[in-house]
Amino acid sequence: MSRKPKHELENNKLNKRLRHAVGDAVNDFNMIENGDKIMVCLSGGKDSYALLDILRQLQASAPVDFDLLAVNLDQKQPGFPEHVLPEYLQSIGVPYKIIEEDTYSVVKRVIGEGKTTCSLCSRLRRGVLYRAAKESGCTKIALGHHRDDILETLFLNMFYGGKLKAMPPKLVSDNGEHIVIRPLAYVKEKDLARYAGLKQFPIIPCNLCGSQPNLQRQVIKEMLQDWDKRFPGRIESMFAALQNVVPSHLADTGLFDFAGLQRGQKLKHGGDLAFDKEILPPRFSDGLRAENGETILPAAAPKKVINILASKPQ
Ligand code: SF4
Repeated sequence: MSRKPKHELENNKLNKRLRHAVGDAVNDFNMIENGDKIMVCLSGGKDSYALLDILRQLQASAPVDFDLLAVNLDQKQPGFPEHVLPEYLQSIGVPYKIIEEDTYSVVKRVIGEGKTTCSLCSRLRRGVLYRAAKESGCTKIALGHHRDDILETLFLNMFYGGKLKAMPPKLVSDNGEHIVIRPLAYVKEKDLARYAGLKQFPIIPCNLCGSQPNLQRQVIKEMLQDWDKRFPGRIESMFAALQNVVPSHLADTGLFDFAGLQRGQKLKHGGDLAFDKEILPPRFSDGLRAENGETILPAAAPKKVINILASKPQ
């Protein structure tokens, strides 16, 4: 009996995991409906290549009928390899459109040397892509943001914007004309990086514009990556929190009618813990703290110790 090599099995597992994660997000947020024509925004980065690839796989197997149109905006950045995307898209046989619009010169002209160019650049790009979606009769616009982008945005907004706000998996554009979807919302960035290597996507570098990377985002990215290494499971838990919001236990008077609270009302979301310390179930993945203060990681902890510690409220 012939056995598949280990790396092939791993690669199949990764592909399956990505397909499931995208399928789940598509279902949970009703992202794709029968008859949709989806404009897939392709930048030449690993995320958008993977997005297109997985959407094509879903298209082949999904019970709903939808069309895909890959769109790239050539912003005329110096050194942009114009031939790469058309060649790739022709080779896989996907309908596509390349829009040429020199937003690069506009940004350089308007924004002074040394200043951050990203916000104007993305505003211009958004305008062009929305127009393209309308002209091409697309009903949805798909972007390649993933789970880690969503969490980074959450922390950026909390740290610098004073808002509990992330990046929605589905939204309506400001003018109400477009529905934007993020089918990679449940996908981990490191899975996308592995997948891109595996599929050998012809990646176009993202620093052609010469803009400095967004340092605040970079710092948050590193913080999250560090947590992911030191506390396995924490990133998953934080993302789960985004899907499990309890307005009555936050402090936004616009979200919950605190002023109108009455005595005798029913318990809300597990009720009040005003006099108690919140007891959270210990998670093995975070490790457990022994009485001498040491953290015992799951792999190192004898089962009996874990059981004893796990049964104690922390
Ligand atoms: S990195 Fe460059 S291309 Fe990307 S948004 Fe910023 S200015 Fe635009």
